[in-house]
Amino acid sequence: MSDSEVFLKHPKTDAHNHLNLGMRYASYAPWAHFYIPNFPRVMNGLDEMHEVISTFTRPRCSTAEDVRDLICLSVEDAIADSVTVLEGSIDLQFVGHYHEDYDAFLGMISDVVSKYKDKITFRPELGIGKTFDDEKVQKWVPILMKSGVFKSVDLYGPETFDGIERFKPLYELAGKCGLKRKAHVGEFSDAASVKGFIEEFSLEEVQHGIGAAKDDKVLQFLADKKIRCNVTPTSNVLLSAVKRMEDHPIKKMFEAGVRLSIGTDDLLFFNRSVSEQCADLVDAGVLTQEQIFKILDDFER
Ligand SMILES: [Zn+2]
Repeated sequence: MSDSEVFLKHPKTDAHNHLNLGMRYASYAPWAHFYIPNFPRVMNGLDEMHEVISTFTRPRCSTAEDVRDLICLSVEDAIADSVTVLEGSIDLQFVGHYHEDYDAFLGMISDVVSKYKDKITFRPELGIGKTFDDEKVQKWVPILMKSGVFKSVDLYGPETFDGIERFKPLYELAGKCGLKRKAHVGEFSDAASVKGFIEEFSLEEVQHGIGAAKDDKVLQFLADKKIRCNVTPTSNVLLSAVKRMEDHPIKKMFEAGVRLSIGTDDLLFFNRSVSEQCADLVDAGVLTQEQIFKILDDFER
């Protein structure tokens, strides 16, 4: 049996998956009724990725039905990879697609959870874009956090730290509502910013966090605090955050005792499932099969 088959059979978590972009291109194109030119491809950082999003994928998602369809396509592709626990983010902006009808939006999410409940534990995550209209953020987020539908929260966007303090009260509320607190940091930024973000927002998990590998003290801090980093190796290589898979810092993080998971990030763009990335890490000599199993088995089911 090849490595990818061994990993395919094994139950897995995907804790870093943006559900509007979380499906295979092969699943997306027949639904979208168009092909994206020269795609998937290696991109020169986040700017090029956002160009594809603004030209193709964002305009294609305009109705409430589109939002539901995209989430379902992503959940189905996670099931196809034997992902048994999916912490997938649903972007706050989609409340707008439901014309601020919170009950309809939350009802759709609960329906999707129960539709697939025999095949996968889908834990909806509230995804907040740093650049999204702050008035809507402050109005919508508390309502959604208090609904009980979301199990975690994530914050993403450009890795700048200006004005970031406006999200702090929302993270305090997340803690009170029992949501797991995550945020994107350390994809392109350094170890100090990873530590700073964890402390500022009382994070339980970090989306990426690979920048921490540049500082042994921050790695030790992550290990001591048992903070899991949800790492996305293929995304890191394709967005040029890491030069080659062979050099991926997940090795150093593992050896430092940092809790880890391997996620897909945006399967539409990066086209490697959790199983495939596990095999890629073994093939590149980054981690052994045994080490990968330790990572896969270290989570609460
Ligand atoms: Zn991400």
